[in-house]
Amino acid sequence: MSAEHAALRILIRLPNWLGDALMARPLLHALRAAHPDAEVRALGPAPLLELLAAERTFDRGEPWPGDGRERGALARALRAWRPDAALILPFSFSSARFALAAGASRRIGYAHEARSFMLTEALRRPPRGELHLSREYLALGARLGAREVALPKLAVRAEAHDAARALVGEAAAGRGVAVIAPRSAYGPARQWPAERFAALARALIAGGRTVLVAGTGAEADTCAAVADAAGEGARSIAGRTTLPVLAALVAAADVAVCNDSGLAHLAGAVGTPTVTLYGSTSSAWTTALGPRVRIIQHPPVCSPCFRRTCAIGYRCLTAIDVAEVAGACRAMTR
Ligand code: SF4
Repeated sequence: MSAEHAALRILIRLPNWLGDALMARPLLHALRAAHPDAEVRALGPAPLLELLAAERTFDRGEPWPGDGRERGALARALRAWRPDAALILPFSFSSARFALAAGASRRIGYAHEARSFMLTEALRRPPRGELHLSREYLALGARLGAREVALPKLAVRAEAHDAARALVGEAAAGRGVAVIAPRSAYGPARQWPAERFAALARALIAGGRTVLVAGTGAEADTCAAVADAAGEGARSIAGRTTLPVLAALVAAADVAVCNDSGLAHLAGAVGTPTVTLYGSTSSAWTTALGPRVRIIQHPPVCSPCFRRTCAIGYRCLTAIDVAEVAGACRAMTR
């Protein structure tokens, strides 16, 4: 290890969304492998830092403050730390402005939102879907000599596994567990119909599984409705776990069925057989990373449109039927 590498102080501004943050894992691992002695600080939403901390790819997490005054104080503290480089993963103007305020000597990100004047290295962004998003992030790290390495399963701490067992232990006694996630924060054009999720849950229960319906607290009503419609053998856990506990819970499941959402990325990352249902977006751009991920997508000619809602009837989603998804679950758990 050269003295130059040992001296590096690297700030990484992580994405704000769970799925995007998990697609940054190849970059985090590549950077750690290239610069094992560098001091790496990750900046991002506190729940994402809590989830990723178990991997030890960064030395310190800096939770992204909620208000402007706290952000100013954090920028001053980071300026005193004197970062040699900032890797700016979000495409926003504000994330580049913060890296500048934090005094990073090199500010590496994609040219977007007229922010290039604040970057020292403004990379040209490929057309959406041409490269997987994880590779777009890796290209930023390549500026610091990081090269792709084998991606391990997402590490989950023992106490999270204990908490997950305590949450579902009795409900799942003697049965396999399937996790389904019927919502997507992006909007309806990424959501397979809730009644089809309920029908799938009934098929999974008939096959001998307990079904856990997962989502955020804001998605609790939909998750409860799907669990109620599925009947005995299904229950909602929406909003009842931290991200590490949800990761442990999904890791213990036989199979997960998700929209193109953060939970699909989480299930893929922990190595659980994961069936992902695609609507308006591009699987080439955002497929969940993991050894056992299967995509179901029947794109009409209008796909991908990347819209949040659809004016012509969500054909991309209604083309996916329950029997096909149930069959994919069976095939992945044989
Ligand atoms: S326009 Fe086409 S791809 Fe987009 S949501 Fe509607 S059916 Fe799906």
